[in-house]
Amino acid sequence: MSDPSFQADPEGLKQALDALLAPPSPESGKLVPNALPEDGCGERAVLDRLAPVVLGGARRLGAPDALAHMDPPTPWIAWAATLWNAALNQNLLHPDVAPVARGLEARVVEWLAPAFGMDGGHMTPGSTLANLTALWAARELRGVRRVIASDAAHLSVAKSAHILGLDYQAVQTDGIGRLDPAALPDDLSSTALVLTAGTTSAGAIDDLALVARAAWTHVDAAWAGPLRFSRRYAALLNGIEQADSVAVSAHKWLFQPKESGLIFFRDNGAAEAAISFGGAYLAVPNVGVLGSHGAVAVPLLATLMAWGRSGLEARVDRTMGIAEALWQRLNDHPGVALYGPQVSGVVLWRPNDGRSVQAIREALPVGLASLTSVDSKDWLRHVAANPNADLETIWRSIADVL
Ligand SMILES: *Cc1c(COP(=O)(O)O)cnc(C)c1O
Repeated sequence: MSDPSFQADPEGLKQALDALLAPPSPESGKLVPNALPEDGCGERAVLDRLAPVVLGGARRLGAPDALAHMDPPTPWIAWAATLWNAALNQNLLHPDVAPVARGLEARVVEWLAPAFGMDGGHMTPGSTLANLTALWAARELRGVRRVIASDAAHLSVAKSAHILGLDYQAVQTDGIGRLDPAALPDDLSSTALVLTAGTTSAGAIDDLALVARAAWTHVDAAWAGPLRFSRRYAALLNGIEQADSVAVSAHKWLFQPKESGLIFFRDNGAAEAAISFGGAYLAVPNVGVLGSHGAVAVPLLATLMAWGRSGLEARVDRTMGIAEALWQRLNDHPGVALYGPQVSGVVLWRPNDGRSVQAIREALPVGLASLTSVDSKDWLRHVAANPNADLETIWRSIADVL
């Protein structure tokens, strides 16, 4: 018997695509049963009932005034490749059920690693797990007992130290969000130093000349890593090639659907040997934190084949251009105080007339600004993750509230 739920229904898939392209208006979750339904309503009816909930109410990350978070809109080639992934459900844990996908992940890692001076790595569901994987390797290979990062480092660094049973020490930043080198202890011999390339709140890039002073240096380039593929901005991350490991979130500035990230190692052979386990039912060793692991490399590979390096560069440069121009206009406005320079596409500002940033944010279109707290002040934050953002649309909204 051939169960139709497991066959393609071209009409049903077309219905799903039509709803995606012309989303119905939002409706509350009352269309979603409170308890597990005893009998199903069928696939087509589900699409009708879920479209107003899932599509209607969703934030449009590619809207002309979307500029609040590190979450980008995704290119359609990645939607298509993700559909293939969902249908095939390959598992990279077993070469048997992923004969092609394992090779494609290795290929995309080979394409990207050299930009960071690394010789290999693997994909993870994001930089939280990439950071954990890096510090796990640091503990195994160099016997580090402590992790040091700046107080602007992502919370996943402290979380990783906690999971791994390592001491965690945060050192102060220098007033524009970078780790203050003067605050580092002299002895870093049993330390993994984590430098951030593009801090989450302010986009600051730590001084990468500090690489290679500790027993292990990991660069958390979750956000700003893709600048390496822009001829104009690559030098902002010079020094990264001396690191022992690098994390990048592909679901940020590589425009991928979640959950897509990468961990790279300078000596990937040694790292893999240190973080591999072989179970009796596994034909190949299980490398890293994950067990079952999907073919997230396929949408990334498809996107990079469609665009090439130059196409990625064009999108990164365009978003940087939006951030630079917005920073400049805010800087020229007498009613605005900015937090530091704009370095990696993140702009922080506050009104200097005493109004609260919360009030300003509420007056702005949803999705234009987020709130962050840096150096014990609140700031409005814009993140240039959206290549479709339109500076004039955005500036009209900001000028209205100023
Ligand atoms: C987003 C971010 C992370 C966490 O990455 P996920 O992909 O969300 O797990 C880590 N570090 C920095 C600097 C980030 O911006």
